[in-house]
Amino acid sequence: MAQTFPTKPVTIVVPFAAGGPTDVVARVIGEAMGRNLGQTVIIDNTTGAAGTIGVRKVVRAAPDGYTLSVGHLGTHVVNGAIYDKVGYNLVTDLEAIVMLPSNPMLVVSKNGLDTKDLKSFVAHVKANQDKLSVGTAGVGSASHIGGLAFQAATGTKLQFIPYRGTGPAMQDLIAGQIDAMIDQTSNAGPQVKAGKIRGYAVTAKVRSPATPDVPTVDEAGLPGMYVTIWHGLWAPKGTPAAVVARLNAAAQAALEDPAVKAKLADLGLDSPAPDQRSVEAMKAFHKAEADKWWPIIKAAGVKVE
Ligand code: ASP
Repeated sequence: MAQTFPTKPVTIVVPFAAGGPTDVVARVIGEAMGRNLGQTVIIDNTTGAAGTIGVRKVVRAAPDGYTLSVGHLGTHVVNGAIYDKVGYNLVTDLEAIVMLPSNPMLVVSKNGLDTKDLKSFVAHVKANQDKLSVGTAGVGSASHIGGLAFQAATGTKLQFIPYRGTGPAMQDLIAGQIDAMIDQTSNAGPQVKAGKIRGYAVTAKVRSPATPDVPTVDEAGLPGMYVTIWHGLWAPKGTPAAVVARLNAAAQAALEDPAVKAKLADLGLDSPAPDQRSVEAMKAFHKAEADKWWPIIKAAGVKVE
């Protein structure tokens, strides 16, 4: 079977709504992977509970390489320390395939607040903590992790509003239904550039080429508030190694595709370094991230509200 794989379309389960950051990574990479594999790659948005429903669907799928799980630091690491009843172990019930691009986050608000930069935004948050609504993709999602970092850096308490992904949360932010978000540059950057929302700072040491006018957290007044969200691709446990290797090769070819590179750069997404693109590198990285984050999240007592 491994020699002829794939003989039919491959499905990537995105555990968040269409139009958000995880969805965009899956669609850009998946389309190019499909060309390399000679089969269509179908995107299945199975959403809810901060991505745990979509991940569980893949854990329980046949281990044949035709149903894959895409996700990030939130869905594939942090959630493992928050959700007790998901019925799977993120490290031992999945086979790592490949690391996918990463990006920092942007602190953004709706237009029309009486703020002009990060300092005045933080002052506004401090003065309006009980009323200010901040969109997330659920407890443990990337946007929630960004929100927790913002709370820690500013000594504030935010009112988090969970969505099925930050695609729909962004629509509500643009419409002024919610006040703010800390979301990935891939989703928030294009809206900042279009003037539909306001961008205050990028959570990295250097500015994002996708939003060169937005200062870093160091420049803007919250030094060291760095958050990077990496993505990855997994198969159910027990998927044959040759099938995993074929999928890894297709993903590596996708990362080298000039049109993919241009699209990723436009969204502020950085591809993993060449020595980080093997199955072994992703497996080791994933386990190291779990070993690092699970004790921290458990000690912090992050709970599903
Ligand atoms: N990645 C986003 C988050 O965790 C959710 C999404 O992709 O829509 O906040």
